[in-house]
Amino acid sequence: MSDCLFCKIISGEIPSAKVYEDDLIFVFKDIAPKAKVHLLVIPKIHLKSLENLEQDHKDMIAHIMLKLPELARSQGLDDGFRTIINTGPGGGQEVGHLHIHLLGGEGLPGFN
Ligand code: 5GP
Ligand code: ZN
Repeated sequence: MSDCLFCKIISGEIPSAKVYEDDLIFVFKDIAPKAKVHLLVIPKIHLKSLENLEQDHKDMIAHIMLKLPELARSQGLDDGFRTIINTGPGGGQEVGHLHIHLLGGEGLPGFN
């Protein structure tokens, strides 16, 4: 999608601090980190949100889930991490390309 911020990050049109990339996913540092480690994990295909996930995306979403602990360890998060998926305006989603927040380390805010 040509007007999507995260699609532009995947293509390199907008620069990002890339942490990992493979055929299915792209992982980069959040520009406004909410904790010492704050990554965004996104599918390379444009999907607006979890609401748009279909059976055809099973392999991709399973791939992301299996990759998350490995990515956390690669960032030094040896004793755990937090994942967040904001979905739609009611869920606080600001960027309309499905993304999983991976957070951990110093400064991790609590849930109140
Ligand atoms: P959301 O609120 O949609 O779940 O999260 C969007 C996230 O994208 C926010 O945490 C925000 O800081 C991050 N973000 C927004 N624009 C950019 C950008 O241009 N580059 C990077 N690396 N992160 C961004
Ligand atoms: Zn996109």
